[in-house]
Amino acid sequence: MEFVLQKNQFYIQEPKYGEWLERNKERGQTFTEYWNKDGNIKPIQPTEKRKKIYFQLYGHFNETQLRLMDSVQRFLSIFYELPIQRLEQKSLDSTQLDTTNWRVQQRNGFQVKTGFILDSLEKNLPSDGVLLVGFTTNDLYPSQKWSFVFGQARLHDRVGVWSMVRFGDADLISQDTDAFNLALQRTCKTAVHEIGHIFSLQHCIFYRCAMQGSNNLTELDGHPSYFCPVCDAKIISNLNLPLSQRYENLAAFWKNQQQLETSNYYRKSALSLRRMD
Ligand SMILES: [Zn+2]
Ligand SMILES: [Zn+2]
Repeated sequence: MEFVLQKNQFYIQEPKYGEWLERNKERGQTFTEYWNKDGNIKPIQPTEKRKKIYFQLYGHFNETQLRLMDSVQRFLSIFYELPIQRLEQKSLDSTQLDTTNWRVQQRNGFQVKTGFILDSLEKNLPSDGVLLVGFTTNDLYPSQKWSFVFGQARLHDRVGVWSMVRFGDADLISQDTDAFNLALQRTCKTAVHEIGHIFSLQHCIFYRCAMQGSNNLTELDGHPSYFCPVCDAKIISNLNLPLSQRYENLAAFWKNQQQLETSNYYRKSALSLRRMD
């Protein structure tokens, strides 16, 4: 498969102090390693029987947050070109939860344990689902030792949950277009990254890419919402995705969200591929 590299777009800098790659020594995963043809672990793939992405919301979402999640769902359906269906929203009210599954911290307030939601997602994965992702407006923690976590996935069990509470203040998102767009970008980046993991993609160390690890929001904001050519080749070959039409659809989606830089990247990629046809 041939790709047109818009080189400056993907240039990666030495990791700065505290960034993901400075803290985690990762060796990356090449396209050949992804398919691991001689190994016995194959990437998770959709099959005739399991080809839907399922989505489930946990906790309270206001009208704006629901609108934001509608956009995230639309983005994912274009990016992965798989049908997406939403399961019935679940409440996360402390009065209904076992006391071992939540806590109240002075600094972070009410938090829900990720393991509890992941267990519930695992039980709910429909028989035609390739994966099930949960989103919540509650803050999350994985165990007592941690102060919080953005999200967590169980890759082999095809489930993951992420919180959007740290992506922007709920009231501000409702009143301010820039805050809404920033929260939307952060949620899309997180969703596309974590679903990438469920499709067996490891972190990217080669280029600027949505599959790069991030240690904090500043680092996440610096990453693009698109995959670099290496990671895109993995997902395109796994899901058998069309080339230029998918990029055109993604360009239109991001143009609609006023993200012109991202839209232009996809538009240029679609144009280059059309020229090679
Ligand atoms: Zn990751
Ligand atoms: Zn990449």
